[in-house]
Amino acid sequence: MTTLAAVLDPFLSLLYPPRCLVCRALGAAGLCTACLEQIVSVADPACPVCGHTVDLNDGCLNCLSRRPAFVRARALGAYEGVLQTAIYHFKYRDRPQLAGPLGRSLASFARDQCAHLNDLKFDALQPVPMHSTRRRLRGYNQSERLARVVCTELGLPLCDALVRSRPTRPQVGLAREARCHNLAGAFTVRRPEEVRGKTLLLIDDVATTGSSLSECAAALRAAGAAAVYGLTLAAG
Ligand SMILES: [Zn+2]
Ligand SMILES: [Zn+2]
Repeated sequence: MTTLAAVLDPFLSLLYPPRCLVCRALGAAGLCTACLEQIVSVADPACPVCGHTVDLNDGCLNCLSRRPAFVRARALGAYEGVLQTAIYHFKYRDRPQLAGPLGRSLASFARDQCAHLNDLKFDALQPVPMHSTRRRLRGYNQSERLARVVCTELGLPLCDALVRSRPTRPQVGLAREARCHNLAGAFTVRRPEEVRGKTLLLIDDVATTGSSLSECAAALRAAGAAAVYGLTLAAG
């Protein structure tokens, strides 16, 4: 903090007291406990592989046509309500501080789900990378901020070996087939020695069909990773 900012900080806190970004309650900078408690779990029945809600008649549309390259993926909640609003602020409204409360909730969820997540025996956590152009525009990669908090909470190191080697269109609004095509070859491992033989956990904000996680897992596996799992804030 600069000297001026340090002097101004108490006055700014009086003028703009910390508030929950979702419900505007005073006191919690970022996300309040009441909002965190309103996060809705992914509805049952869930796919044992990708963790998304499945249709009992059709099975899992994400995994049926093409088995994902990750072993299993799980999401803290459904992409709706409080969680959807929080992710919107986190990604698009320049609120990187949401990584704190969201990351701590994600780590606690990972502990609950450890039976599905290799008993949390990971060599490192790898955030889903953002292309350097978009990262410069946004100023930060939300998945990396999230992964750093989860790493601290779980006492695991961060892996930074994966990069998005070409820009891709946002996956939002693309059909399932188009999503896979959009991402094909988008990820590369710049330091294969960091992933060779390792069991890794990918971290991302939202998994819509799981195709980003799967493409990342495929790139890591091709570079020699032993196994890759996925953990996201939201599914859907
Ligand atoms: Zn709130
Ligand atoms: Zn599935």
